[in-house]
Amino acid sequence: MKACLLHSPAKVERNPLEFADAPDPKPGPGEILVRVKMCGICRTDLHVVEGELPPKKSPVIPGHQIVGMVEKLGEGARRFQIGDRVGIPWLHSTDQTCEFCRAGAENLCDHPTFTGWTVDGGYAELAVAPEDFVYALGDSFADEHAAPLLCAGIIGFRCLRLSGIKPGAKLAFYGFGAAAHVAIQVARHWGAEVYAATRGAKHQQLALSLGAVWAGEATDAPPAKLDAAIIFAPAGELVPPALAALKKGGVLVLGGIHMSPIPSFDYSLIYQERVIRSVANNTRKDGEDFLRVAAEIPIHSQTTLYPLREANRALNDLKGDRVNGAAVLDCQP
Ligand SMILES: [Zn+2]
Ligand SMILES: [Zn+2]
Repeated sequence: MKACLLHSPAKVERNPLEFADAPDPKPGPGEILVRVKMCGICRTDLHVVEGELPPKKSPVIPGHQIVGMVEKLGEGARRFQIGDRVGIPWLHSTDQTCEFCRAGAENLCDHPTFTGWTVDGGYAELAVAPEDFVYALGDSFADEHAAPLLCAGIIGFRCLRLSGIKPGAKLAFYGFGAAAHVAIQVARHWGAEVYAATRGAKHQQLALSLGAVWAGEATDAPPAKLDAAIIFAPAGELVPPALAALKKGGVLVLGGIHMSPIPSFDYSLIYQERVIRSVANNTRKDGEDFLRVAAEIPIHSQTTLYPLREANRALNDLKGDRVNGAAVLDCQP
């Protein structure tokens, strides 16, 4: 098969992914082989490719928002049939035995594997995954539009859940890329009023077109005090201004897997029972609940397509804030 291989992490400006032939993966017991149609590009892929997430395997094929068709069943796999449409997400597997898994918090598993980081992902024509960690995809979304739902969408949904917002809540998003442009649609469906603090007129325009009541620069103070805020940008310097925008008791959710250092700030910014919490991965239940809500609304994801062989260009565009909505790789020739 053709695939994009990362031999060792490097700045994306150096185009570190090699488009090359790689051996076809084989499904092991309980796994399925999927012919990848589309693979969404997530900011986490940038952290893998540039090495902020330390390499776990070399070479590795990045990519964890995989939409494709089941092509082959491994031994004992019987949840899907050949030809079924499925999604492979970031959480590739868990041990299912640690204290977190047993407590229903498999997103915090002690021994997880992650698609496109610790095991090969979907910047390729084929991918394998354990059938139990794969989502059945109905026909609500075209392949291209389903891909960004699988991580950006699900993580945004978990961030919304952890923000504790209620109908009528005032909520701000810091950074307005793939995750936020989906999350705003869910938040508005739940009756929240959304404020978008994000750099660049293009992202602000996208937020307003999706129903944000206000859009400004990332460090501008929104014109109302907020019940909750979610920082999607990997920028720790946004924590103090986001805290300053919260009401008493407000919740600040940090949605990224990696963030630059958070500067120190005055205690008054967090006093009055304001809360900061991070979000780590998601459970399969988050994913299933989100995909149901997404089909009900229905969510429309705005995508920019790139051919598989141009993954480096897509990553450069993502890093340079030149993608409106979500970047998606078309993985078939
Ligand atoms: Zn576990
Ligand atoms: Zn992701």
